Amino acid sequence: MPQQPKKPIIIFDFDGTLVDSFTPALEYLFTTLIPQFKITEISRAQIDQLRSQTLFQLIKKIRFGWLKVPLIIWKINRWSDQYAWSFALYDHVPELIRSLKKHGYSLHILTSNKTFVVETVLRHHQLLEEFTSIHASGGLFNKDKKLLQLLRQLNLQKSDIVYVGDEIRDIQACRRADVRIISVSYGLNSSAGLRQFKPDFLVEEPRDVFSIVEKLHHESTPPSPALAD
Ligand SMILES: [Mg+2]
Repeated sequence: MPQQPKKPIIIFDFDGTLVDSFTPALEYLFTTLIPQFKITEISRAQIDQLRSQTLFQLIKKIRFGWLKVPLIIWKINRWSDQYAWSFALYDHVPELIRSLKKHGYSLHILTSNKTFVVETVLRHHQLLEEFTSIHASGGLFNKDKKLLQLLRQLNLQKSDIVYVGDEIRDIQACRRADVRIISVSYGLNSSAGLRQFKPDFLVEEPRDVFSIVEKLHHESTPPSPALAD
């Protein structure tokens, strides 16, 4: 009996991959925080340029004073906890999630956001049931270690999974953890920025994730014993 091809387990990032948290966060930054902190060094026009940068380059370039950064991040997080329920999912994300699930893929989330935020947003969009597990790390860094921890928890091999994320640091984390990544260019980092870091796959739209995952699934068919001999 030929073995069935193994379906890759899909681990999604949350912010910038499933949910568009940046559009409302930028709105809050420009309408509330920038006037409140009297920041003059950044304009909306600069934001697009910054999308090809890593997080460190980005913070360095903005130059509004290191002392203000932790407070601004804290304020954005607090605001996001409160209003995340109203954040929109990217176009075609619900269709992507539902068709992956319908085709028998197991879906998980690994995020630096908080579990209750992820659950609130997904419940609001009636997608919570589609995910098998949610792993919230509550920190911006060390995603590679979190990925390896998750593999151990789910009792999976590195080659069983594929990660889907929107940032350069997601590519860096997957490289360190030796895990495949599908980068999406509609989130924080631009297509040009992501390409420089050579993700395994780069897609422009959520629905393109489906065809890549299907391709990985069919490529994973092991040779039949007769052929292997
Ligand atoms: Mg993200």
